[in-house]
Amino acid sequence: MLPPGSTIGILGGGQLGRMMAVSALQLGYRVIGYAPEGDNVAADACSDFITADWDDAAALAQFAAACDVVTWEFENVPVATVQALPSPLLACPLRALEVAQDRFHEKHFVSQLGGTPAPYAKVESEQDLADAFITIGTPGILKTARDGYDGKGQWRVRTVLEAGSTHFPGVPCVYEGFVTYETEFSVILVRGKDGTIKFWDSTANLHEGGMLALSVLPAGALVEAQVREARDLAGKVADELGYVGVLTLEFFATRDGPVFNEMAPRVHNSGHWTIEGAATSQFENHIRAICGLPLGVTKTRFASIEMRNIVGEDALKAHAILAEPGEPHLHLYGKAEAREGRKMGHVTRVGHVLK
Ligand code: AMP
Repeated sequence: MLPPGSTIGILGGGQLGRMMAVSALQLGYRVIGYAPEGDNVAADACSDFITADWDDAAALAQFAAACDVVTWEFENVPVATVQALPSPLLACPLRALEVAQDRFHEKHFVSQLGGTPAPYAKVESEQDLADAFITIGTPGILKTARDGYDGKGQWRVRTVLEAGSTHFPGVPCVYEGFVTYETEFSVILVRGKDGTIKFWDSTANLHEGGMLALSVLPAGALVEAQVREARDLAGKVADELGYVGVLTLEFFATRDGPVFNEMAPRVHNSGHWTIEGAATSQFENHIRAICGLPLGVTKTRFASIEMRNIVGEDALKAHAILAEPGEPHLHLYGKAEAREGRKMGHVTRVGHVLK
């Protein structure tokens, strides 16, 4: 168990790091963040913050020297950056990053453990794309294999006609068949150093423009019927990776069962409701797990929960939400610029307390 006063290093400077840091401070730890130049809103909640490029060897050495344990809040931290740190500092396995950073690798990995992704094909040339359109057909989605998030680096291909005018974008991609689903849901788990796994309830997730807009509980009968199978898979993924901390798998609930979409080796936007809605939040349990502390109970505390993202300029008038009836719990991330499509905060509304 990492004693109070120890220092947790967080790679990445976004809102996930900010909320993680708040939990770490609450448990008596110091936090040092590390990220390249940018709107690093995690810095507000960190005892110290190093702004440097991912390949700055001197800055990484300074960061490592200050940390007792290191985690990340962003799955696209370059593998080489993590490899530059002394491996005993790493709380979560590097392999989790390697798998999650490449959509092809990720789908292959999860399929081998018994998961079902949408039909998919690797696309590394114009010819691969033409072949993928034949074997998988349309509609489908062409996605960059790496560096995509919140619907970025994705092109929908609705018809054969559209396929005819879609070209290989010049970077490795995956083409996948469009899944007809009733709803999307996520499985969020925490795995401790001793291999114990706890799951939070699965929310139904609504995306707008490829980005999460809303997570709700209860998630509905179809999701509830599929959660067990999805959890089995997520548990296998975590065990196979020897994972420590919070891990998220996203699924489509289809008539034929859960279809795996993607995984994130980190806390997740669809788990923000756990701050007020669960006995222990995803952020706190992630910190507990990486520090070797006992994991907290993940039980849901309310009969209904809704977490809504606050995007772009909506954040400028978000304080008005506090005057609404019920118990709106507002979180703003302190981002300087309320750009269109940018996650600026979220609000969680809860229903009756569960006995
Ligand atoms: P991703 O970045 O892969 O999570 O994609 C973002 C969102 O786009 C997903 O949450 C879905 O709403 C939608 N989406 C992605 N892939 C598919 C697919 N194969 N079929 C249907 N919808 C998809």
